[in-house]
Amino acid sequence: MSKTINMQDDNVGRSMGLKIEDMTDIVCENCGCRYFNQVHAFKRVSALLSPTGKEQIMPVPSFRCSDCGHINEEFIIK
Ligand SMILES: [Zn+2]
Repeated sequence: MSKTINMQDDNVGRSMGLKIEDMTDIVCENCGCRYFNQVHAFKRVSALLSPTGKEQIMPVPSFRCSDCGHINEEFIIK
């Protein structure tokens, strides 16, 4: 059975031996806010490349500042 890693699981950090204090905060580059909302960018997969042979839309998760809506460089979907 394959083990999937769920980043929302509180145990992930602990099992890796990490403590909250050891991690650095990512803050909004624009306003310094520490909180982010999850948003999705969407990619279109052409029928030629799609495994199903049909055009598909793929959601790609990213994050934007909950205060000002700014998206940090590292969260921008390329
Ligand atoms: Zn912000």
